[in-house]
Amino acid sequence: MFRKLFPIFILFMAVFLCSCGKEKHLNQFEKIVERDKLIVGVKSDSKPFGYIDMNTLDIVGFDVDIAKRIAKDILGDENKIQLIPVTPENRIETLTSGKVDIVVATMSITKQRQEVIDFSEPYYFAGQSAAVLSNGKVQSYSDLNNKKILVVLGTTAATDIKKTIPGAFIIGYKNYTELFDSFKNLRGDAAATDDAILAGFVMDNPDYKILNPRLTIEPYGVGIRKGQDSAALKYAVNRTISNMKSDGSINALKQKWFVY
Ligand code: GLU
Repeated sequence: MFRKLFPIFILFMAVFLCSCGKEKHLNQFEKIVERDKLIVGVKSDSKPFGYIDMNTLDIVGFDVDIAKRIAKDILGDENKIQLIPVTPENRIETLTSGKVDIVVATMSITKQRQEVIDFSEPYYFAGQSAAVLSNGKVQSYSDLNNKKILVVLGTTAATDIKKTIPGAFIIGYKNYTELFDSFKNLRGDAAATDDAILAGFVMDNPDYKILNPRLTIEPYGVGIRKGQDSAALKYAVNRTISNMKSDGSINALKQKWFVY
């Protein structure tokens, strides 16, 4: 019996092993092409980079337009994209856990973050600052000693602002919606983050202004997973950013979204 079945067994194993061998490993770029969709982590409360348009309920903004151009360059259609809202606190974990292909979310390229993820070339340079009431008691950074500064957890401001203003009391929020609500309800004397995000707040709330000068330079990069598996994707993202710089699209986005 066994002798009779042995050749069939060998044939079955040969077919099985051949089919295993044919199953090729797809790198991250190839997976996106096969899926025919780019999955991107973006902000949903950081006007004008990533926020909800209240008329359409779509997430729109400067970062969203960058993500759409990357989708267009890889897949030939800017609408072949799925946007997943992220916060400063969860954006790196959302990327490393594989829930998104890339993160385009006002994320500064820092040495600390580079230990965990890779970044594209910078596509925008913001700078850390603070928003205050235009006619309030605080008119300079030194006025913020012994005052309450509101920040979002996971941002560079949350770690840095205490170094600039050691005497301040720092209050952390999970996201910008909570922070700006609190700020408007006068639960703090200043809100600290990038001037580019504060500009979005001031656009809607003209009673506030942004302090000068910028305290830091914050180069925004597209977050990509580390490793050889993401090398082709990183190359593609960098090519898009470089093309957007040379063909004037980045400058056009600054005009479109009123980023200063
Ligand atoms: N760009 C800064 C950061 O990466 C702050 C802005 C933000 O992402 O909320 O932490």
